[in-house]
Amino acid sequence: KAKMEGGKRFRFYAREMNARALERMDLEHELRQAIERGELELHYQPQVDLRGGQVIGAEALVRWPHPAHGLMMPGAFIPLAEESGLIVELGEWVLRRACLQNRAWQDAGLPPISVAVNLSARQFAACDLVSLTDGILRETGLNPNLLELELTESAAMLDTTAFIKATKRLKDLCVSLSLDDFGTGFSSLSYLRRFDIDRLKIDRSFVRDIVHDPDSAAIVTTIVALAHNLNLAALAEGVETEAQLRFLRSCDCDEIQGYYFSRPLTVADFERLLASARRLQVPSEDGTESKR
Ligand code: C2E
Ligand code: MG
Ligand code: MG
Ligand code: MG
Repeated sequence: KAKMEGGKRFRFYAREMNARALERMDLEHELRQAIERGELELHYQPQVDLRGGQVIGAEALVRWPHPAHGLMMPGAFIPLAEESGLIVELGEWVLRRACLQNRAWQDAGLPPISVAVNLSARQFAACDLVSLTDGILRETGLNPNLLELELTESAAMLDTTAFIKATKRLKDLCVSLSLDDFGTGFSSLSYLRRFDIDRLKIDRSFVRDIVHDPDSAAIVTTIVALAHNLNLAALAEGVETEAQLRFLRSCDCDEIQGYYFSRPLTVADFERLLASARRLQVPSEDGTESKR
């Protein structure tokens, strides 16, 4: 009897799994088409300097306006893109789009900002990122100083020797490099000084609790100090409140990104923001606003 029920259950799971596999194949097919047809979109989230308060950059974040599911967030399709290998085409599209966009902003006379593009570990392994980046910079004519590539600890750990070589060659192109979600990976600190990078992006999970949790506060303070001791800049991700902002200022963090200043914006909204030259009101230590 138990065996029979087990069999039934198995058939149920098999049916369920089959339906999921089919759904996944559909989504993969649709994603491939969306990439080919240029239907993906980039939203841009401002990055602001914590001393002067001005916008110094924007992170490009991919969105997929899906006819049936609405605006899909990266969490809903990037893993599929990574598993299927589509991340290579997707990543190339994002890089080109972001460079073209920033070039257009510069041509329009907007203040110079750097645009940051996320790279997944799979892209490092699957294509020659250095010549791809070089080609796209030439093709779009974007000043390489105005492009930043966001790398992850997992890319660094996949093949550390290859990673170090690639980062050196990317630096030769004069692009900036940052380590994203810093603190969540398992990269060894001894490698950090061998990576030719410019800044650490402190993961949102630490920033979220800095005000209430002494451990998170200690971790963030330590990452900022580590960055500065290695001559790197520190950017805090996911800043949502003024209390977090005050804390980050008090530990001398260089830059922030988060809903407190702005959510990721459509191109039109981001252009309005840049043109309005809106600044972050940076609270001073004594609690008064300052625009130093
Ligand atoms: P990420 O690179 O760490 O990007 C930051 C994420 O945090 C974004 O989510 C952003 O909307 C969100 N965020 C920013 N400020 C706040 C805040 O104050 N509070 C909260 N709760 N969230 C905030 P998003 O756009 O959903 O992207 C998620 C992840 O997907 C990214 O994390 C990145 O790993 C990946 N991703 C996005 N675009 C691309 C892409 O073009 N290529 C690749 N390979 N990955 C991408
Ligand atoms: Mg990122
Ligand atoms: Mg991040
Ligand atoms: Mg993150």
